[in-house]
Amino acid sequence: MLWSDVIAKAAAVGLAPLNGSNPTVGVSGYTLGGGLSPTLGRSHGYAADHVRWFDVVTADGKLQHVDAESEPDLFWALRGGKGNFAVVTALEFDLFPVPRLYGGGLYFPGERTADVLRTWAAWHPNTPETMITSLAMMRMRSMPPVPEPLRGKFLVSVRIAYNGTVADGERLVAPLRAVAPSLLDNVRDMPYSEVASIHNEPTDPVPYYERGIMLRDFPAQAQDKLIELVGPDSETDLVMAELRALGGAWDREPAVPNAVSTRGLPYSLLAVAAGPLSQEEQLKRSVAELLDGMKPWQGDRRFVNNLAPDEAADATAIYGPERYERLASIKKTYDPANMFRLNHNVLPAATPD
Ligand SMILES: Cc1cc2nc3c(=O)[nH]c(=O)nc-3n(C[C@H](O)[C@H](O)[C@H](O)COP(=O)(O)OP(=O)(O)OC[C@H]3O[C@@H](n4cnc5c(N)ncnc54)[C@H](O)[C@@H]3O)c2cc1C
Repeated sequence: MLWSDVIAKAAAVGLAPLNGSNPTVGVSGYTLGGGLSPTLGRSHGYAADHVRWFDVVTADGKLQHVDAESEPDLFWALRGGKGNFAVVTALEFDLFPVPRLYGGGLYFPGERTADVLRTWAAWHPNTPETMITSLAMMRMRSMPPVPEPLRGKFLVSVRIAYNGTVADGERLVAPLRAVAPSLLDNVRDMPYSEVASIHNEPTDPVPYYERGIMLRDFPAQAQDKLIELVGPDSETDLVMAELRALGGAWDREPAVPNAVSTRGLPYSLLAVAAGPLSQEEQLKRSVAELLDGMKPWQGDRRFVNNLAPDEAADATAIYGPERYERLASIKKTYDPANMFRLNHNVLPAATPD
């Protein structure tokens, strides 16, 4: 099932899920990987924090109902450990009474990148948890469906999802609107069903390569470095570098703790390159140039949903040593032969000699 299905059905009764930026993403993989919702996550936490139960098929072929009481270890590991533990056939999660948002995007011309970035970085920490925001530097294509004023341009876009009144939303966003005249400003009162328009990502298949890291800090030097690497005067061919501001409920352990590893890290940084398979090596190089350049500020854990599927990431580094040890021990119980290994693999804990 895709998020678009859930959003439509929930919106019909005035409710909203903790969906991601793009409605074409699948519910299961997203939620098992944590599920970082750029529309409600800062106030509500990760999607994985709100799962009530799963039905799964474990590696031994058994159909099992998994919740906090019946299978507490597996329930902990599934929520954040992604595809390592079982095949999920059904899940139930909370929805929230959010019929409308004040949201959309402010698109500024590339030459104002430094002003917008610095203002945004100083602004968002002082906003309430109901204000969720990200900033993207983007090289737009010169063709539809890109709106006419944005075609072929380098842009910096600030995304807004505010769950509150329009008057408060306008007041909160005013310092951003004051930075520079925008090329497009579609931040508005909207029904939750229009949530995809905030990030406005492609919904048709496009060949791309992306991966991300977490940042533990984003001081002025890191801001300068980001502009140097992907700003308007850089030579990068990335189509997008996206910085999401986290904190709030994303940092708090849920009532029933889980394996999500990125609490306490204040930013996610995603690098996206687009092009045909024949350019794969170049796309990967462009992504690496940005992420390697930002290494001095990289956090000590990774967000599993932002790893490239083929990335040879060390799972200990994704989860941190203690969380990894517990995952490995649960893996040994539920998948000792490592059947579920085509992923960012948690190895079953070794049996002591
Ligand atoms: C355009 C775009 C926007 C995105 N935005 C966000 C975002 O805002 N927040 C965020 O957190 N992530 C985001 N993601 C990342 C997304 O959450 C991951 O790519 C996730 O893996 C997608 O899951 P899927 O079910 O769609 O994909 P699939 O390719 O079907 O699955 C990916 C992996 O998830 C696991 N998996 C999937 N289904 C099951 C199942 N039923 N049982 C067990 N394991 C399963 C498996 O390991 C599988 O290999 C985005 C991705 C894209 C492409």
